[in-house]
Amino acid sequence: MSGFAVPWSCCINGIVAAIILCSFVLGTSSPSECRAEDDGLGYSYTPQLPNSPWRVHDRRRPQPPKVAPGKTPGAPPADAVVLFDGKDFAQWENARPTDGAEAIDPKSIEDGAFNVLKTGWIQTKRHFGDCQLHIEWRTPETADGDNLNWGNSGVFFLGNYELQILESHDNKVYADGMAGAIYGQTPPSVNPARKPGQWQTFDVIFTAPRFDGEMLLSPAYFTVLWNGVLVQNHTEVMGSTRHLTFPNYRSFESTGPLVLQPHGSAVRFRNIWIRPLKGDKITRESRQDQNS
Ligand code: MG
Repeated sequence: MSGFAVPWSCCINGIVAAIILCSFVLGTSSPSECRAEDDGLGYSYTPQLPNSPWRVHDRRRPQPPKVAPGKTPGAPPADAVVLFDGKDFAQWENARPTDGAEAIDPKSIEDGAFNVLKTGWIQTKRHFGDCQLHIEWRTPETADGDNLNWGNSGVFFLGNYELQILESHDNKVYADGMAGAIYGQTPPSVNPARKPGQWQTFDVIFTAPRFDGEMLLSPAYFTVLWNGVLVQNHTEVMGSTRHLTFPNYRSFESTGPLVLQPHGSAVRFRNIWIRPLKGDKITRESRQDQNS
């Protein structure tokens, strides 16, 4: 709460404060004009906020649009793009069609979830930039590979920046390769892993990098809640995530598909939804429209 808000809302009668401000500080409005605005809907004579077109409590400032939240925790809000609801792969395509058929085998879906070993590399048809993502994943209950493979998958934002998935409750690898890590760069701040075989959640705020040609203007950032616990707090991304290699920015796009990785383990996914954030209105389809 700002220094202005406390005395205005709690300590000083709003009308008196408005009269004092108008009469002695600004001197441009009469007390009666100020009282007319004392309706709880804002003011037109308050100080200008720095680096903002708005005044403090500006009555002209638009109200945020209403969005119906999901009916249960983890359910998609009304403005989300539902990427997977347990029924089909309508929002996805094979990321490496040379590996097999173009279409993703619908038999990969079982009990409302799919097995990434059966789908292979898949990616969203739509491209996203800044976004909020909710995704649920489950590693095999028993090891189906060595420590680097058990539960290994990952979510690649823009097809380049991997948020790692790995069995990390009973399994140990290098810190920047465990679940919740920005792979090869930054481990999660804590480890809230559930037991293998249990469903887990990532809720991610991703800020896409910005470029001017091939010059980096601002890096990507990850904020990640793993099972509701903050593990990445606006963490700067050093570049494309790679194994054994120093990260740097090798792609100069600010939008791209969301890609899921098969890595030799039967990791399952369900309930995936995304909210493109303000400023990200570019999709592959819209770009094609612009180019046509
Ligand atoms: Mg991985």
